Amino acid sequence: MEQHDDGVALHWASPDGPEHARCAWLVGCDGGRSSIRKMAGFAFPGTPPSQFMYQAVLDLDHPERLPRGSTRTPEGVVMNGPRPRWLALHDFSGPPADRNAPVTREEIEGVLRRISGADVRVTAMDQANRFTDSARLVDTYRRDRVLLAGDAAHIHSSAGGQGLSLGLVDAANLGWKLAGDRSVGRADVRTSLFAEMAEGEGILLDASPDGHAAGLAAGFTRVRCLPADAGPSMLIRPDGCIAWAGDVGDAEGLVDALERWFASAAPRPGGFQERSCSAGPSSSAPSRSEPRT
Ligand SMILES: Cc1cc2nc3c(=O)[nH]c(=O)nc-3n(C[C@H](O)[C@H](O)[C@H](O)COP(=O)(O)OP(=O)(O)OC[C@H]3O[C@@H](n4cnc5c(N)ncnc54)[C@H](O)[C@@H]3O)c2cc1C
Repeated sequence: MEQHDDGVALHWASPDGPEHARCAWLVGCDGGRSSIRKMAGFAFPGTPPSQFMYQAVLDLDHPERLPRGSTRTPEGVVMNGPRPRWLALHDFSGPPADRNAPVTREEIEGVLRRISGADVRVTAMDQANRFTDSARLVDTYRRDRVLLAGDAAHIHSSAGGQGLSLGLVDAANLGWKLAGDRSVGRADVRTSLFAEMAEGEGILLDASPDGHAAGLAAGFTRVRCLPADAGPSMLIRPDGCIAWAGDVGDAEGLVDALERWFASAAPRPGGFQERSCSAGPSSSAPSRSEPRT
């Protein structure tokens, strides 16, 4: 992978030989061990694993010897079902010798027999993987023209089952910005907003000709206004969801959305006068709207 001012060049090995491509933006959606994240040099700080688990879809020679549901023993926990043929194993003995080695039928069988104490053999296995409770989050979602989404950007225990939806929100957050071709402040929506949103505040993109939308947002301390060159105006929550959008010159519903999402937020230390929106064209081009790539 090579980054250039205007894009990213990629070279990879395929079964048909070397291949290459060039793109304006590269989004790494390649999972928790993301090669893109590593090649682009993202830091991935967090906590190491303390729990070691497997899940597998398999056949047993004597399935009746394994209790259905969740069974805890001194060695770990076996979750048998509720889906047919599906097992999850929580192994208290620590990590396997090689956490990067493919999961084999023999490994699953050994762990299952040790934890459960049941005299069973795995006769067929369609799919299996290991996972842990390691929790990590990239220091930034963007480095120049490389972005991350999904497990490539964050990993955590699968307990709670929120990883997939979190990744989808990443993608929804990213998609409309990458598709945008409007200017915001002195930059375009793709370069400027990524940096602005890292501040963790709401953003009002004000495309009204007279700064009307920014005027309505004056006093909402956790919202910053950025002038936009074209409609619609948008109120963007810190998580990237669009809380309100209105046609140029039409701010109907904006105050309701501001009150719903931003009214109860405590004022920032240092007050809001220099940070919050102000009415009219004077709100244009605040220095913070310049790209910080
Ligand atoms: C046991 C378990 C249970 C879970 N249960 C839930 C649940 O109930 N609900 C929930 O929301 N989430 C759950 N999750 C989490 C969820 O599975 C993940 O958060 C989600 O799959 C992440 O999606 P992703 O697209 O970011 O990454 P992945 O699903 O990992 O997809 C990445 C893809 O990139 C491909 N790839 C990687 N490297 C390369 C490369 N160099 N070249 C080409 N392709 C490559 C991989 O093959 C893979 O297809 C669970 C996870 C586990 C382990």
